[in-house]
Amino acid sequence: MDKRITSLIANLKRRNIEGIYAVSKDEARQRIKQLILRSSTVGISGSKTLDELGVVAFLEASGYEVFNQYKPGISREQSLQMRNLGCRADYFLTSCNAVSEEGELVFFSANGQRTSGIANAENVIVVCGLNKIVPNLEQGLKRSREYAATLNCKRLDWKSACLGEGACHKDICLEPEYKRMCCQVLIIESEIRPERVKVVIVGENLGF
Ligand code: SF4
Repeated sequence: MDKRITSLIANLKRRNIEGIYAVSKDEARQRIKQLILRSSTVGISGSKTLDELGVVAFLEASGYEVFNQYKPGISREQSLQMRNLGCRADYFLTSCNAVSEEGELVFFSANGQRTSGIANAENVIVVCGLNKIVPNLEQGLKRSREYAATLNCKRLDWKSACLGEGACHKDICLEPEYKRMCCQVLIIESEIRPERVKVVIVGENLGF
């Protein structure tokens, strides 16, 4: 395993967070499945990383009850219900916007569903591709806002201040003129409960 990954896993451990390395997407899906107890419920956040990993469909096909707010054909009301249930599920599956080499995890959220699920769930599984690892927290915040959020706004045609030219203008990105994607920021620096948060580091680039 790359020395940078070994060091990251050791730094996560110092913070009471378990780091797990999966060399490929296929291995990552299997490792995630192994982490979730049978007959458990799973909540998810919107995530390009999870989409590219195909893990939601994989878990559904494996018999887990996934509160999937993006399931095709469901109504807006059903989707909102799934979001709420997801925040209180046995496991919350998500991805980070960045992780520092020191082990600090950075998450941005528009409406708080992601940050709420991560902050409150009994068990949190964070998926992280190699492209999300940055030297320090400052770079993590910079990456999240100036790179990940702007690309996500473009991907989802989100009416934010960065939509046109792709640069963040956070000082003016406010309602009602703009629809801001990064309204909330959650940084996990450490955990009280060992094993509550696990980070599956995938040996490939995933998401933004
Ligand atoms: S604060 Fe606004 S302009 Fe900046 S990245 Fe977030 S959504 Fe885009």
